[in-house]
Formats: sequence, structure tokens, C-alpha cells
Amino acid sequence: MGSLRVTIWNEFLHERNNEVVQKIYPDGMHAVIADGLREQLGDEVVVRTATLNEPEHGLTEEVLAETDVLIWWGHVGHDQVEDAIVERVQKRVLSGMGLIALHSAHASKIFRKLMGTECMLRWREAGERERLWIVRPGHEIVSGLVGEYFELAHTEMYGEFFDIPQPDELIFISWFEGGEVFRSGCTFHRGRGRIFYFRPGHETYPIYYDSNVRRVIGNAVRWAATTGATYYGPARNIAEPLHPIANPKATDEHFQRPQ
Ligand code: ZN
Repeated sequence: MGSLRVTIWNEFLHERNNEVVQKIYPDGMHAVIADGLREQLGDEVVVRTATLNEPEHGLTEEVLAETDVLIWWGHVGHDQVEDAIVERVQKRVLSGMGLIALHSAHASKIFRKLMGTECMLRWREAGERERLWIVRPGHEIVSGLVGEYFELAHTEMYGEFFDIPQPDELIFISWFEGGEVFRSGCTFHRGRGRIFYFRPGHETYPIYYDSNVRRVIGNAVRWAATTGATYYGPARNIAEPLHPIANPKATDEHFQRPQ
């Protein structure tokens, strides 16, 4: 079976409270995102889902320990996510779990904690066209996309200024019919973890059925999965030098020179 273990977290509120959303995503957005991942990655991936109302929001220590990449969709329920769980997810990202923040997850507690800024933006709900321009054509996340851009016929607009730190890599820039532009695909590294913010996904449009969106999320899962060296995040006082130190006067309060 698969080597990539993905957990898709969805607050799962709109799908139960809004008829329009219910029709598009009867089993929840997480179910459709999961289908898309299986379609893109096949046997390479093992997918599980977690939602807000489960105990510990479905994100227990055990679940996170068995997760290589966490996908996050949240909107009206951001404040209902417990801080202790947010902290747990942050620690797991720092130690190497990938995180893909979708659409309104820009305002989630976990994304804002990892970014350190407000992460706010301008927006408008007018069902307008979005054109996502590929601005990093050599990147794994855009692998297999055809053309210089792809389009979504009806979307909610997100516009600049988007208050995020400078991304490590900018993958997509969106243009909107109404005139705004937006950094709609951004990568970040925090500790050992890789983070991808991907904008598409407003709940009243069938965005997670779109083949290009599915391809990008599948590619992003591969990209964000743990890699690199061992993580040495916590503080480490090294009393024994690696090599003899000539200075006879030690001034560091923690330094004990052997007699
Ligand atoms: Zn939205």
C-alpha cells in the first residue's frame, strides 16, 4: 500500500448548514478532496479524514504521528479549534509534517501561527472568473499542468494585499475578472516542515472537482511530505566542546570548564 499518509481536515460546517454547499458536497468537502487525491496518486497514498466535531478535532497525537501531510480546510469554525490542538499541529509541522492550507484556511489559527502575520486580504463574492498564472514552471507542484495558466469559471475573489511573510517560492499568481491579483500558490518552510498555501476552494462552487485543482493538490502532497535531515529543533546546551577551547576565562553561565 501507499507510502504517503495524508489526513484531510475539514471543519465540515457549511456542508451541513447550507443547501447550496450540501448539493455540491453531500459528504463534505473532505470526501471530494480525498477522491481527488486517490485519483491523482492511486496506491501511493493512504487518506484519512478528520473534522472539527470529533474528539480532539480528530487530530490526536496518534493521528498526527501517522500523518505525513495534513490538508486543512476551515472558515466559519476557525475560533472553535482549540489552541492546544493548534499547538500540537504546529509542533508536528516543525518536526516534519507537511501542511497544505486551502482557501479560507488563510485565516485559520494554525496558518496564522505558522506565518506570524495577520494573513488577511480583500475579498468579494461575485462568482467571477479566476485565471491562475504559473510563475514557477519548474516546480514539482505544477508538474503536468498544460499551458501558462488555468482558469476557474466562477470563484470568490481574494485580492492583494495578502498579509503573509514573503513566501519561499511563489507558484501561482491569480488574476480576477473584477481587477484584483493575488499570490494564490505560496510555499514556506518552518522548522523541518513544508507548507503550501493554495487559494482555490470557496464552498459554493465545485472547485475540488476541477482536474487542475486536483492535480495541484496531489503534486503538493508529494512535495510537502517529510524529507531532509533529522530535525534538531529543541534547545541543546553542549557543555563538552567538540574540540578543545583555548580561552581560560569562561564567562558563559552554563559553561563548566573541567578542573
Ligand atoms: Zn470562501
